[in-house]
Amino acid sequence: MSEFKYKSSQLHIEGVAISTISKSIPTPFYVYSATMIENNFLSLQSRLSDLNHLICFAVKANSNQAVLRTLAALGSGADVVSLGELKRALHAGVPPHKVVFSGVGKKAHEIEYALEQGILQFNVESVAELHNINKVAIKCNKSANIAIRINPDVAVDTHAKITTGTAENKFGIGYEQALDTFVLADNLPAITVQGIHVHIGSQITDVTPFKAAFKRVADLYKQLNALGIDIKVLDLGGGLGICYDPENDSLPDMAEYRQIIEDELSEFNCQYIVEPGRSLTADTGCLVSEVIYDKLGTDRNFLIVDAAMNDFARPSLYDAYHRISPVLESTKPNKKYDIVGPVCESGDTFAVARELPELESGDLVVIQDCGAYGAVMSGTYNTRPLIAEVMVKNDAFAVIRKRQNLDDLINLDQIPNWLAS
Ligand SMILES: *Cc1c(COP(=O)(O)O)cnc(C)c1O
Repeated sequence: MSEFKYKSSQLHIEGVAISTISKSIPTPFYVYSATMIENNFLSLQSRLSDLNHLICFAVKANSNQAVLRTLAALGSGADVVSLGELKRALHAGVPPHKVVFSGVGKKAHEIEYALEQGILQFNVESVAELHNINKVAIKCNKSANIAIRINPDVAVDTHAKITTGTAENKFGIGYEQALDTFVLADNLPAITVQGIHVHIGSQITDVTPFKAAFKRVADLYKQLNALGIDIKVLDLGGGLGICYDPENDSLPDMAEYRQIIEDELSEFNCQYIVEPGRSLTADTGCLVSEVIYDKLGTDRNFLIVDAAMNDFARPSLYDAYHRISPVLESTKPNKKYDIVGPVCESGDTFAVARELPELESGDLVVIQDCGAYGAVMSGTYNTRPLIAEVMVKNDAFAVIRKRQNLDDLINLDQIPNWLAS
Protein backbone atom coordinates (compact mmCIF):
# COMPACT_ATOMS: atom_id res chain seq x y z
CA MET A 1 0.00 0.00 0.00
CA SER A 2 1.24 3.43 -0.84
CA GLU A 3 2.44 5.72 1.91
CA PHE A 4 2.25 8.70 -0.47
CA LYS A 5 -1.02 10.53 0.24
CA TYR A 6 -2.50 14.01 0.26
CA LYS A 7 -3.54 15.20 3.70
CA SER A 8 -4.97 18.73 3.97
CA SER A 9 -3.94 19.24 0.32
CA GLN A 10 -0.28 18.55 1.08
CA LEU A 11 1.43 15.47 -0.31
CA HIS A 12 2.76 13.40 2.59
CA ILE A 13 5.09 10.46 2.80
CA GLU A 14 3.95 8.47 5.80
CA GLY A 15 3.42 11.17 8.45
CA VAL A 16 5.66 13.82 6.94
CA ALA A 17 4.66 16.56 4.49
CA ILE A 18 7.09 16.91 1.59
CA SER A 19 6.87 20.68 1.97
CA THR A 20 8.23 20.25 5.50
CA ILE A 21 11.26 18.36 4.24
CA SER A 22 11.90 20.94 1.54
CA LYS A 23 12.14 23.67 4.18
CA SER A 24 15.43 22.23 5.40
CA ILE A 25 16.69 20.38 2.33
CA PRO A 26 17.13 22.17 -0.97
CA THR A 27 15.52 20.59 -4.02
CA PRO A 28 16.01 18.40 -5.89
CA PHE A 29 16.21 15.44 -3.51
CA TYR A 30 15.11 11.82 -3.35
CA VAL A 31 12.86 10.70 -0.53
CA TYR A 32 12.00 7.11 0.42
CA SER A 33 9.38 5.57 2.71
CA ALA A 34 11.05 3.10 5.08
CA THR A 35 7.70 1.52 5.88
CA MET A 36 7.00 0.79 2.22
CA ILE A 37 10.42 -0.80 1.78
CA GLU A 38 9.71 -3.02 4.78
CA ASN A 39 6.22 -3.86 3.56
CA ASN A 40 7.43 -4.75 0.07
CA PHE A 41 10.02 -7.10 1.53
CA LEU A 42 7.61 -8.70 3.99
CA SER A 43 4.95 -9.16 1.35
CA LEU A 44 7.35 -11.00 -0.97
CA GLN A 45 8.58 -13.07 1.94
CA SER A 46 5.07 -14.11 2.90
CA ARG A 47 4.33 -14.85 -0.76
CA LEU A 48 7.24 -17.31 -0.74
CA SER A 49 6.60 -18.66 2.74
CA ASP A 50 7.05 -22.42 3.18
CA LEU A 51 9.42 -22.44 0.22
CA ASN A 52 13.05 -22.78 1.27
CA HIS A 53 14.13 -19.39 -0.04
CA LEU A 54 16.45 -16.45 0.42
CA ILE A 55 15.65 -12.98 -0.87
CA CYS A 56 18.85 -11.29 -2.06
CA PHE A 57 18.03 -7.64 -2.76
CA ALA A 58 19.68 -6.47 -6.00
CA VAL A 59 21.85 -3.73 -4.56
CA LYS A 60 22.24 -2.00 -7.90
CA ALA A 61 18.61 -0.83 -7.68
CA ASN A 62 19.27 1.27 -4.58
CA SER A 63 22.53 1.00 -2.71
CA ASN A 64 22.02 3.59 -0.01
CA GLN A 65 23.26 2.29 3.35
CA ALA A 66 20.00 3.18 5.11
CA VAL A 67 17.97 1.29 2.51
CA LEU A 68 20.26 -1.74 2.73
CA ARG A 69 20.18 -1.64 6.51
CA THR A 70 16.37 -1.49 6.50
CA LEU A 71 16.29 -4.63 4.37
CA ALA A 72 19.14 -6.42 6.17
CA ALA A 73 17.30 -5.95 9.47
CA LEU A 74 14.43 -8.00 8.04
CA GLY A 75 16.79 -10.79 6.98
CA SER A 76 17.45 -9.81 3.39
CA GLY A 77 20.56 -10.97 1.60
CA ALA A 78 22.18 -9.08 -1.26
CA ASP A 79 22.88 -9.59 -4.94
CA VAL A 80 25.94 -7.50 -5.78
CA VAL A 81 27.68 -6.81 -9.09
CA SER A 82 30.88 -5.05 -8.02
CA LEU A 83 33.38 -4.83 -5.19
CA GLY A 84 31.78 -1.51 -4.25
CA GLU A 85 28.33 -3.05 -3.91
CA LEU A 86 29.78 -5.99 -1.97
CA LYS A 87 31.40 -3.61 0.51
CA ARG A 88 28.22 -1.56 0.77
CA ALA A 89 26.15 -4.65 1.52
CA LEU A 90 28.57 -5.97 4.16
CA HIS A 91 28.88 -2.52 5.70
CA ALA A 92 25.10 -2.29 5.98
CA GLY A 93 25.03 -5.54 7.94
CA VAL A 94 24.19 -8.13 5.30
CA PRO A 95 26.04 -11.28 6.42
CA PRO A 96 28.48 -12.66 3.80
CA HIS A 97 26.70 -16.01 3.72
CA LYS A 98 23.67 -14.19 2.28
CA VAL A 99 25.55 -12.48 -0.55
CA VAL A 100 25.59 -13.61 -4.18
CA PHE A 101 28.01 -11.98 -6.60
CA SER A 102 26.64 -11.53 -10.15
CA GLY A 103 27.91 -9.61 -13.17
CA VAL A 104 29.80 -10.37 -16.37
CA GLY A 105 33.11 -8.67 -15.56
CA LYS A 106 34.34 -9.59 -12.08
CA LYS A 107 38.04 -8.80 -11.72
CA ALA A 108 40.57 -10.85 -9.78
CA HIS A 109 40.81 -8.45 -6.82
CA GLU A 110 37.00 -8.41 -6.52
CA ILE A 111 36.86 -12.21 -6.60
CA GLU A 112 39.61 -12.43 -4.00
CA TYR A 113 37.86 -10.06 -1.59
CA ALA A 114 34.57 -11.94 -1.97
CA LEU A 115 36.31 -15.27 -1.35
CA GLU A 116 37.98 -13.96 1.78
CA GLN A 117 34.64 -12.75 3.10
CA GLY A 118 33.05 -16.16 2.46
CA ILE A 119 30.10 -15.17 0.30
CA LEU A 120 27.28 -17.59 -0.51
CA GLN A 121 28.11 -17.93 -4.21
CA PHE A 122 29.51 -16.44 -7.37
CA ASN A 123 27.07 -16.36 -10.26
CA VAL A 124 29.39 -17.17 -13.14
CA GLU A 125 28.68 -15.75 -16.58
CA SER A 126 31.45 -17.18 -18.82
CA VAL A 127 34.06 -19.92 -19.15
CA ALA A 128 36.85 -17.34 -18.91
CA GLU A 129 35.42 -16.11 -15.62
CA LEU A 130 35.17 -19.67 -14.34
CA HIS A 131 38.89 -20.20 -14.98
CA ASN A 132 39.73 -16.91 -13.34
CA ILE A 133 37.71 -17.69 -10.20
CA ASN A 134 39.41 -21.10 -10.03
CA LYS A 135 42.83 -19.46 -10.34
CA VAL A 136 42.13 -16.86 -7.65
CA ALA A 137 40.65 -19.50 -5.34
CA ILE A 138 43.77 -21.68 -5.71
CA LYS A 139 45.94 -18.69 -4.86
CA CYS A 140 43.83 -17.98 -1.75
CA ASN A 141 43.73 -21.65 -0.82
CA LYS A 142 39.94 -21.62 -0.87
CA SER A 143 37.17 -23.29 -2.77
CA ALA A 144 34.68 -21.02 -4.55
CA ASN A 145 30.97 -21.86 -4.42
CA ILE A 146 29.44 -21.09 -7.76
CA ALA A 147 26.25 -21.12 -9.74
CA ILE A 148 26.38 -20.84 -13.49
CA ARG A 149 24.09 -18.30 -15.07
CA ILE A 150 22.38 -19.81 -18.06
CA ASN A 151 20.84 -17.79 -20.82
CA PRO A 152 17.52 -19.56 -21.39
CA ASP A 153 16.85 -17.67 -24.64
CA VAL A 154 13.43 -16.52 -23.47
CA ALA A 155 12.04 -13.25 -24.78
CA VAL A 156 10.40 -10.89 -22.33
CA ASP A 157 8.02 -8.10 -23.21
CA THR A 158 9.99 -5.21 -21.74
CA HIS A 159 12.30 -2.44 -22.93
CA ALA A 160 15.15 -3.73 -25.16
CA LYS A 161 17.74 -2.20 -22.82
CA ILE A 162 16.52 -4.24 -19.85
CA THR A 163 15.90 -7.63 -21.42
CA THR A 164 18.73 -10.01 -20.59
CA GLY A 165 17.62 -13.57 -21.28
CA THR A 166 17.75 -13.86 -25.07
CA ALA A 167 20.61 -15.32 -27.10
CA GLU A 168 21.79 -11.93 -28.35
CA ASN A 169 22.38 -10.58 -24.81
CA LYS A 170 25.81 -10.58 -23.20
CA PHE A 171 24.51 -12.35 -20.11
CA GLY A 172 24.94 -15.95 -19.05
CA ILE A 173 26.10 -19.08 -20.84
CA GLY A 174 24.10 -20.14 -23.87
CA TYR A 175 21.72 -22.95 -23.04
CA GLU A 176 23.39 -25.25 -25.57
CA GLN A 177 26.78 -24.88 -23.87
CA ALA A 178 25.44 -24.99 -20.33
CA LEU A 179 25.91 -28.68 -19.67
CA ASP A 180 29.52 -28.73 -20.90
CA THR A 181 30.29 -25.68 -18.80
CA PHE A 182 28.92 -27.32 -15.66
CA VAL A 183 31.02 -30.41 -16.33
CA LEU A 184 34.09 -28.25 -16.86
CA ALA A 185 33.38 -26.35 -13.63
CA ASP A 186 32.88 -29.56 -11.72
CA ASN A 187 36.36 -30.69 -12.77
CA LEU A 188 38.14 -27.52 -11.71
CA PRO A 189 39.98 -28.12 -8.42
CA ALA A 190 39.00 -24.95 -6.55
CA ILE A 191 35.40 -24.69 -7.75
CA THR A 192 32.39 -26.13 -5.94
CA VAL A 193 29.36 -26.25 -8.20
CA GLN A 194 26.20 -25.65 -6.17
CA GLY A 195 23.66 -23.80 -8.28
CA ILE A 196 21.93 -22.82 -11.47
CA HIS A 197 21.25 -19.12 -12.01
CA VAL A 198 18.84 -17.46 -14.41
CA HIS A 199 17.74 -13.82 -14.73
CA ILE A 200 15.68 -12.97 -17.78
CA GLY A 201 15.15 -9.23 -17.62
CA SER A 202 13.60 -6.41 -15.67
CA GLN A 203 10.19 -4.73 -15.29
CA ILE A 204 8.42 -8.00 -16.12
CA THR A 205 4.68 -7.64 -15.52
CA ASP A 206 3.52 -10.78 -17.31
CA VAL A 207 5.04 -13.71 -15.42
CA THR A 208 4.56 -16.37 -18.15
CA PRO A 209 8.15 -16.06 -19.52
CA PHE A 210 9.37 -17.27 -16.11
CA LYS A 211 7.66 -20.58 -16.84
CA ALA A 212 9.70 -21.16 -20.00
CA ALA A 213 12.90 -20.10 -18.22
CA PHE A 214 12.30 -22.31 -15.17
CA LYS A 215 11.45 -25.28 -17.41
CA ARG A 216 14.93 -24.98 -18.89
CA VAL A 217 16.40 -24.80 -15.38
CA ALA A 218 14.51 -27.98 -14.51
CA ASP A 219 15.75 -29.78 -17.64
CA LEU A 220 19.29 -28.81 -16.88
CA TYR A 221 18.95 -29.87 -13.24
CA LYS A 222 17.90 -33.35 -14.36
CA GLN A 223 20.77 -33.68 -16.82
CA LEU A 224 23.27 -32.56 -14.18
CA ASN A 225 21.78 -34.88 -11.64
CA ALA A 226 22.21 -37.79 -14.05
CA LEU A 227 25.90 -36.90 -14.29
CA GLY A 228 26.23 -36.82 -10.52
CA ILE A 229 26.58 -33.05 -10.29
CA ASP A 230 24.76 -32.02 -7.15
CA ILE A 231 22.74 -28.80 -7.46
CA LYS A 232 21.50 -27.39 -4.15
CA VAL A 233 20.60 -23.81 -5.10
CA LEU A 234 18.31 -22.49 -7.81
CA ASP A 235 18.83 -18.75 -8.23
CA LEU A 236 15.77 -17.48 -10.06
CA GLY A 237 16.94 -13.91 -10.59
CA GLY A 238 14.91 -10.75 -10.21
CA GLY A 239 12.91 -8.85 -12.76
CA LEU A 240 9.46 -8.51 -11.20
CA GLY A 241 7.87 -5.30 -12.43
CA ILE A 242 5.93 -2.51 -10.79
CA CYS A 243 3.07 -0.32 -11.97
CA TYR A 244 4.60 2.91 -13.30
CA ASP A 245 1.53 3.86 -15.29
CA PRO A 246 -1.84 2.84 -13.84
CA GLU A 247 -3.50 3.38 -17.24
CA ASN A 248 -1.26 0.88 -19.03
CA ASP A 249 0.68 -1.33 -16.60
CA SER A 250 -0.53 -4.29 -14.63
CA LEU A 251 1.28 -5.72 -11.62
CA PRO A 252 2.80 -9.19 -11.94
CA ASP A 253 0.51 -11.90 -10.64
CA MET A 254 2.50 -13.02 -7.62
CA ALA A 255 0.31 -16.02 -6.86
CA GLU A 256 1.01 -17.24 -10.37
CA TYR A 257 4.73 -16.51 -9.98
CA ARG A 258 4.84 -18.70 -6.91
CA GLN A 259 2.81 -21.37 -8.64
CA ILE A 260 5.27 -21.44 -11.55
CA ILE A 261 8.14 -21.98 -9.11
CA GLU A 262 6.28 -24.81 -7.42
CA ASP A 263 5.12 -26.43 -10.64
CA GLU A 264 8.45 -26.38 -12.39
CA LEU A 265 11.00 -26.72 -9.60
CA SER A 266 9.64 -27.99 -6.30
CA GLU A 267 10.42 -31.66 -7.00
CA PHE A 268 14.16 -30.96 -6.59
CA ASN A 269 14.24 -29.86 -2.94
CA CYS A 270 16.65 -27.02 -3.62
CA GLN A 271 17.01 -23.69 -1.90
CA TYR A 272 15.60 -20.87 -4.03
CA ILE A 273 17.27 -17.52 -4.26
CA VAL A 274 15.33 -14.58 -5.68
CA GLU A 275 17.06 -11.30 -6.53
CA PRO A 276 14.44 -8.55 -6.72
CA GLY A 277 15.60 -4.98 -7.03
CA ARG A 278 12.94 -2.81 -8.60
CA SER A 279 9.96 -4.55 -7.02
CA LEU A 280 11.27 -3.93 -3.49
CA THR A 281 12.13 -0.24 -3.76
CA ALA A 282 10.87 1.47 -6.93
CA ASP A 283 7.48 2.55 -5.62
CA THR A 284 8.90 3.54 -2.22
CA GLY A 285 10.72 6.66 -3.43
CA CYS A 286 10.12 9.86 -5.32
CA LEU A 287 12.21 12.70 -6.64
CA VAL A 288 11.15 16.11 -5.33
CA SER A 289 11.84 19.03 -7.61
CA GLU A 290 10.97 22.71 -7.81
CA VAL A 291 9.64 24.49 -10.87
CA ILE A 292 12.22 27.07 -11.91
CA TYR A 293 10.32 28.60 -14.81
CA ASP A 294 7.23 28.00 -16.82
CA LYS A 295 7.56 28.84 -20.47
CA LEU A 296 4.27 29.04 -22.27
CA GLY A 297 4.30 28.82 -26.04
CA THR A 298 1.82 28.48 -28.87
CA ASP A 299 2.72 24.85 -29.58
CA ARG A 300 4.02 23.72 -26.26
CA ASN A 301 4.22 24.68 -22.65
CA PHE A 302 7.39 23.83 -20.83
CA LEU A 303 7.92 23.45 -17.13
CA ILE A 304 11.61 23.74 -16.37
CA VAL A 305 12.30 21.98 -13.08
CA ASP A 306 15.49 21.86 -11.01
CA ALA A 307 15.97 18.08 -11.33
CA ALA A 308 17.57 16.84 -14.52
CA MET A 309 18.62 13.75 -16.44
CA ASN A 310 21.86 13.54 -14.47
CA ASP A 311 19.82 13.16 -11.25
CA PHE A 312 17.32 10.73 -12.72
CA ALA A 313 18.20 9.00 -15.97
CA ARG A 314 15.34 6.57 -16.60
CA PRO A 315 13.15 8.82 -18.77
CA SER A 316 16.02 9.82 -21.07
CA LEU A 317 17.69 6.40 -21.01
CA TYR A 318 14.69 4.07 -21.40
CA ASP A 319 11.87 6.43 -22.41
CA ALA A 320 10.46 5.44 -19.05
CA TYR A 321 7.07 6.77 -18.01
CA HIS A 322 6.88 8.22 -14.51
CA ARG A 323 3.87 9.87 -12.94
CA ILE A 324 4.44 13.47 -11.91
CA SER A 325 2.28 15.17 -9.31
CA PRO A 326 2.15 18.54 -7.61
CA VAL A 327 3.11 18.58 -3.93
CA LEU A 328 0.28 20.98 -3.16
CA GLU A 329 -3.06 19.59 -4.30
CA SER A 330 -4.51 22.19 -6.57
CA THR A 331 -7.88 23.19 -7.99
CA LYS A 332 -6.38 25.23 -10.81
CA PRO A 333 -7.32 24.25 -14.37
CA ASN A 334 -5.14 21.70 -16.14
CA LYS A 335 -2.50 22.54 -18.70
CA LYS A 336 -0.41 20.31 -20.92
CA TYR A 337 3.29 20.56 -20.11
CA ASP A 338 6.57 19.17 -21.31
CA ILE A 339 8.50 18.75 -18.08
CA VAL A 340 12.21 19.25 -18.62
CA GLY A 341 15.39 19.78 -16.65
CA PRO A 342 18.05 22.47 -17.02
CA VAL A 343 20.71 20.25 -18.65
CA CYS A 344 21.77 21.23 -22.17
CA GLU A 345 20.34 18.18 -23.95
CA SER A 346 16.97 17.73 -25.62
CA GLY A 347 16.87 14.31 -23.98
CA ASP A 348 16.63 16.02 -20.60
CA THR A 349 12.89 15.48 -20.59
CA PHE A 350 10.83 13.83 -17.84
CA ALA A 351 7.44 13.95 -19.56
CA VAL A 352 5.87 15.15 -22.78
CA ALA A 353 2.41 16.74 -23.08
CA ARG A 354 1.53 15.82 -19.50
CA GLU A 355 -1.71 17.19 -18.03
CA LEU A 356 -1.11 18.91 -14.73
CA PRO A 357 -2.87 21.65 -12.84
CA GLU A 358 -1.28 24.99 -13.69
CA LEU A 359 2.08 25.37 -12.00
CA GLU A 360 4.47 28.24 -11.68
CA SER A 361 7.92 29.15 -10.49
CA GLY A 362 8.52 27.96 -6.92
CA ASP A 363 5.92 25.17 -6.95
CA LEU A 364 7.08 21.69 -5.98
CA VAL A 365 6.43 18.53 -7.96
CA VAL A 366 7.30 14.90 -7.34
CA ILE A 367 8.39 12.41 -9.96
CA GLN A 368 7.03 9.13 -8.63
CA ASP A 369 8.43 5.60 -8.43
CA CYS A 370 12.08 6.66 -8.36
CA GLY A 371 13.18 4.38 -5.51
CA ALA A 372 14.94 1.94 -7.84
CA TYR A 373 17.44 2.84 -10.56
CA GLY A 374 17.17 6.47 -9.47
CA ALA A 375 19.90 7.88 -7.26
CA VAL A 376 22.20 4.97 -8.12
CA MET A 377 22.27 5.96 -11.78
CA SER A 378 22.90 9.63 -11.19
CA GLY A 379 25.95 11.54 -12.36
CA THR A 380 27.32 15.05 -12.32
CA TYR A 381 26.89 16.11 -15.96
CA ASN A 382 26.80 19.91 -16.29
CA THR A 383 28.71 20.01 -12.96
CA ARG A 384 25.55 19.35 -11.02
CA PRO A 385 26.46 17.81 -7.64
CA LEU A 386 24.86 14.50 -6.60
CA ILE A 387 21.63 15.31 -4.79
CA ALA A 388 20.52 14.43 -1.28
CA GLU A 389 18.58 11.33 -0.31
CA VAL A 390 16.09 11.39 2.56
CA MET A 391 14.26 8.61 4.37
CA VAL A 392 10.94 8.93 6.17
CA LYS A 393 9.75 6.57 8.89
CA ASN A 394 6.41 7.36 10.49
CA ASP A 395 6.64 11.00 11.61
CA ALA A 396 10.40 11.31 11.34
CA PHE A 397 12.70 12.04 8.44
CA ALA A 398 16.46 11.94 8.09
CA VAL A 399 19.01 12.78 5.44
CA ILE A 400 20.53 9.46 4.43
CA ARG A 401 22.93 10.96 1.96
CA LYS A 402 24.10 14.55 1.99
CA ARG A 403 24.02 16.53 -1.18
CA GLN A 404 27.49 16.57 -2.71
CA ASN A 405 29.42 19.74 -2.03
CA LEU A 406 30.27 21.66 -5.18
CA ASP A 407 33.83 22.42 -4.06
CA ASP A 408 34.41 18.72 -3.32
CA LEU A 409 33.19 17.89 -6.79
CA ILE A 410 35.48 20.40 -8.47
CA ASN A 411 38.43 19.45 -6.29
CA LEU A 412 38.29 15.86 -7.52
CA ASP A 413 40.11 17.21 -10.57
CA GLN A 414 43.88 17.61 -10.34
CA ILE A 415 46.11 19.99 -12.21
CA PRO A 416 49.21 18.44 -13.83
CA ASN A 417 52.40 20.17 -12.77
CA TRP A 418 52.99 21.70 -16.20
CA LEU A 419 49.78 23.70 -15.72
CA ALA A 420 50.34 24.61 -12.10
CA SER A 421 51.23 28.24 -11.62
C1 LIG B 1 19.54 -6.26 -12.25
C2 LIG B 1 19.55 -7.62 -11.76
C3 LIG B 1 18.61 -8.03 -10.81
C4 LIG B 1 17.51 -7.15 -10.32
O1 LIG B 1 16.56 -6.87 -11.33
P1 LIG B 1 15.19 -6.15 -10.97
O2 LIG B 1 14.52 -6.04 -12.29
O3 LIG B 1 15.52 -4.83 -10.39
O4 LIG B 1 14.45 -7.02 -10.03
C5 LIG B 1 18.70 -9.32 -10.32
N1 LIG B 1 19.67 -10.17 -10.75
C6 LIG B 1 20.59 -9.81 -11.67
C7 LIG B 1 21.62 -10.77 -12.08
C8 LIG B 1 20.57 -8.52 -12.19
O5 LIG B 1 21.46 -8.18 -13.12
